[in-house]
Amino acid sequence: MANLEIIWAELGISADYAVLRGLPLQPEAVELISIGADNQNRDCQLEPEAAQAWRALQDAAKTEGITLEPVSGFRSVERQAQLIRGKLARGQRLDDILRSNAAPGYSEHHTGRALDITDGASPPLNESFEQTVAFAWLSRRAKRFGFHLSYSRNNPHGFVYEPWHWCWQEQAEVRRPLS
Ligand SMILES: [Zn+2]
Repeated sequence: MANLEIIWAELGISADYAVLRGLPLQPEAVELISIGADNQNRDCQLEPEAAQAWRALQDAAKTEGITLEPVSGFRSVERQAQLIRGKLARGQRLDDILRSNAAPGYSEHHTGRALDITDGASPPLNESFEQTVAFAWLSRRAKRFGFHLSYSRNNPHGFVYEPWHWCWQEQAEVRRPLS
């Protein structure tokens, strides 16, 4: 992983960011596979198990007439830094940026398990996604495929509400009785 201290110093992110926001370090995925093109026709990648779960989720939605498309999957620490640099260069305040972009090293997208999802019709990465049938379907069914909404309304991490951002988690193993 890139040197976070150097990147944070450059961007002006304070050293106590992760503690104050209650965020765990998100290691970069080691292995990635393509899940096809995102909504801007860039190759979108996820970690293999998350990719498999995503395909199952997307197929299940499709059979019920629901379109789910990826907007953004894996993102490297360096790419996260570039996104923040770009917003700073356009005059946005760091505090505002960090409400919708995690500091480099702390984005779930680094793990290759997080996915921003659109229905292909409503504006991507917009709270209005909450009003779509796709979101209603995800809210009912995504959990069964291991996907969870990460940043609910008024989440304790100080992120804006992100109804489009879903993260896959390994399903809990069947518990064995303690011996
Ligand atoms: Zn996201």
